[in-house]
Amino acid sequence: MPELAYYLMLLAALVAGATALGCSRAPTFDRRTIFCLAFGLGLWAVGMGNAIANSDAEQNLISTYVYFVSYGLPLLYAAVATRDEPTTTSRRLVDGGLLLLLVTLCYLGVRDLQDDHGFLRGEYEPWVALAFDAENVLLLLAFLVRSLAAMDEREYRSFRVVTIFLGIYALTAAVHNHIDQFTELAVFGAIGDTLPTLTFTLLICLLHSNRRPGAFELNHHIWARRLAASFAPGVLLAAIFAFSVGIRGSQGVLGQIMLALAMLTYVIRVVQTQFWFAATRDRLAEALAAVERVSLLDELTGIPNRRAFESALGERLRESMRDHRPISALMIDVDRFKIFNDSRGHLDGDVALKAVARLLAGTLRRPADFIARYGGEEFVVLLPNTAEEGAQVVARRMNRSVYEAALAFDLGIDQRVTVSIGIATTDELGGAELIKRADVALYCAKAGGRNGHAAAADEWPIASFP
Ligand code: GH3
Ligand code: MG
Ligand code: MG
Repeated sequence: MPELAYYLMLLAALVAGATALGCSRAPTFDRRTIFCLAFGLGLWAVGMGNAIANSDAEQNLISTYVYFVSYGLPLLYAAVATRDEPTTTSRRLVDGGLLLLLVTLCYLGVRDLQDDHGFLRGEYEPWVALAFDAENVLLLLAFLVRSLAAMDEREYRSFRVVTIFLGIYALTAAVHNHIDQFTELAVFGAIGDTLPTLTFTLLICLLHSNRRPGAFELNHHIWARRLAASFAPGVLLAAIFAFSVGIRGSQGVLGQIMLALAMLTYVIRVVQTQFWFAATRDRLAEALAAVERVSLLDELTGIPNRRAFESALGERLRESMRDHRPISALMIDVDRFKIFNDSRGHLDGDVALKAVARLLAGTLRRPADFIARYGGEEFVVLLPNTAEEGAQVVARRMNRSVYEAALAFDLGIDQRVTVSIGIATTDELGGAELIKRADVALYCAKAGGRNGHAAAADEWPIASFP
């Protein structure tokens, strides 16, 4: 009794559609995906209703096929609508337009396969069955990738349920659509007609059993995420192409216009996507540049940090060697700063450090000169193209600048904050050696009484201020 089986299929599809519609509001499911499933099942049920209404005819009306093919379109939309791009109004409009055009193309493509009485031409039957298989497998694969690419529990749960359903549906539909071609036995036909009902019943059970949240672990299929984001435009193009295959001469200009419109809408969608990618790329580049800028600055003093210094040192040294010019490094240390901290507290110490950094940086005149906070209360300066005498001039200026600022420090030299400076100059040494020599010179400047500077070769400071 095929009619009973058809009624059962219709009932099962309707209940499954209604269950999906109810579940689309449940917080445990992804609304769009499950709503699209409900919409697809609705179209399927209309197709089945159409088939039942015309069951006195020997063959199915072409309109029935249109509904059955259209069932996959909302699902296709759910599969391609990834969260990688924001769902703006313009994107919704374009997607909606494209879906409508796909439905029209589907209608035109399938209608062209009809004979004079509105039935599917006999010679196309095996091809239409194969087209259904292809549609089902394509949807199954798209949903499988999306469930592997899921970023949260709702997405994962929804795509997994639909994937299981689509997998079983693809199998049962294949059996149902091809069984007549291989056997005349009525019992096999009855089995084929029962299978879709069982599939829809299984879907209802799956939806119900997944209504409650469960354990979810974010998977790490990065390839699936990339694939899901990249196949979306391709799948839509494939759908346009698939429907265009069905459109033949009889549709004339209308078919051509619809195809052209679908392609145009598709192009708009691709432009939207590319535009969004370009904007995202620019935003990322800006953010990266900002992060890089911040990562090279010292948080307390606002001047470049040790990391920035290391890269500047390599660069400036290479330039100096290439041009055979000397380069000088100054290692600067705040005098008796531990006592400053102990007597005045760290907050005052920080304020003093900021002031010293500002004073030191203010003494540099040439654009190529570079100052950084080396660590703690130590600063380092690079003076490219500067021989020892020039470096001494800068060091003297720095000592004077800090001294004259008279930052109050009772236990400091002359009751103020002062610095000692070690100078090293080279036109051949490596960076580490240069800094080591400046450090030794700094030790000499300290040993010489502080608030002064010393050059690397000297045993004692060559000058002290005032
Ligand atoms: P010297 O004249 O020999 O350089 O004596 P000093 O006390 O300055 O030398 P030392 O290197 O022993 O002390 C450095 C002190 O600098 C230790 C710490 O209290 C202080 N210091 C280092 N970094 C910071 C900082 O970021 N903020 C503050 N407030 N103090 C710091
Ligand atoms: Mg120190
Ligand atoms: Mg110190």
